[in-house]
Amino acid sequence: MTWSYWRISPFVTSIFFILGVLTLYWVLYNWLTRWFHKRHINVDDNTINAWHGTIYMLVFVFVMQASVVGKADSWQFMNFQLIGIIFCGFFLHIRIPYYFLFPVVLIYMLFNHSIYYWESWVYAAFMILLFWNLNALRTWLQKRKFRWVYYLGTVMSYGALLWWFVKLKFNLDWSTYVQEYVYLLIFALLLYAYVSMLTQDSEIKLRLAQFASHDALTKTANFAAYSTRIDYLFQDSLDNNLNLSMMMFDIDHFKKINDTYGHLAGDRVLQTVAQTVQTVIDENDSHVQLYRTGGEEFNILFAGYDLESTATIVQQIFAAINHQAVHYNDKIIRVTISAGVSQLVAADHTPDDFYERVDQNLYQSKRNGRMQITSA
Ligand code: GH3
Ligand code: MG
Ligand code: MG
Repeated sequence: MTWSYWRISPFVTSIFFILGVLTLYWVLYNWLTRWFHKRHINVDDNTINAWHGTIYMLVFVFVMQASVVGKADSWQFMNFQLIGIIFCGFFLHIRIPYYFLFPVVLIYMLFNHSIYYWESWVYAAFMILLFWNLNALRTWLQKRKFRWVYYLGTVMSYGALLWWFVKLKFNLDWSTYVQEYVYLLIFALLLYAYVSMLTQDSEIKLRLAQFASHDALTKTANFAAYSTRIDYLFQDSLDNNLNLSMMMFDIDHFKKINDTYGHLAGDRVLQTVAQTVQTVIDENDSHVQLYRTGGEEFNILFAGYDLESTATIVQQIFAAINHQAVHYNDKIIRVTISAGVSQLVAADHTPDDFYERVDQNLYQSKRNGRMQITSA
């Protein structure tokens, strides 16, 4: 076999073509996310996925269609295009607003010379519906079993309809219709299996990373995560002359809460405190990060903040906890905290120097009678 004489059937070639297109998508996506992260550009991975996915698939569809546009068999790449739609709508779960989707479809129809055919309009309408349906299906399926059955069911129904409109427009015979339809289903199933294999591996890695960096009880980031982050922020603040502040707080007389109400009540208190603090943070600036660094001790890192600018959030956190009543088995548990706050200064040679000062401030609050903030 030579480059010019190709014995492998078009069906097999198509399968490897699709897998190749998807693999290239993944390689490019990983490269892009790494590129943004390395430069500390603050873009959400989902945003990269959505834009990259849309542009990639549009280029794929338009480039392929360009070679057959206006010809009698311009339907030939339809299965590839449907696979592209399924990949973006279901697997990448890209949500494209209708005011963006309609013009794209319209431009495609103009480009494809199909704007004067009623079959193409109905086809386009069902394709948009398919996209939305796959989007919604993906959300709905999140915790269900036998997902592939619902997925295949959706592709089967829409595929049958869409190919039927193509059959009408191009006067295809039934055998072509059935053959193309069966190919679509095979491709769709292959796609499902392939994406599952690819994502399974990255999901396991993600779950392990989440497990290693988060505390199981309160779901906040743990000491290991704090340690990594403070090392990074310390260096970044030095290199780029940025502010950095830290708040550390400890629940007052927590041992007494355990002794009086039991350890389960103590656990509930820890969960509630973590939740309350996170809510206050989210209302102010979601870049501020909370860590459970000890039993009933928490640290908060304010990247880019000096002592003065942390004051409002620190006060809000302090007030939110001290006014909170934790309900546990008909009992009401009152919680107070003591806090220490400080900002990075030139004399800090290591992250521990900085930590030490915050810790001392916290102990000052305890020595002064608890339920207070020491900031210096
Ligand atoms: P202070 O006001 O000086 O901070 O007194 P304290 O009682 O809060 O401090 P101490 O260090 O004496 O006690 C902390 C207690 O926190 C002891 C430990 O049993 C408890 N603790 C640590 N982790 C957990 C946890 O995950 N769940 C529960 N229920 N208790 C915990
Ligand atoms: Mg305590
Ligand atoms: Mg403590």
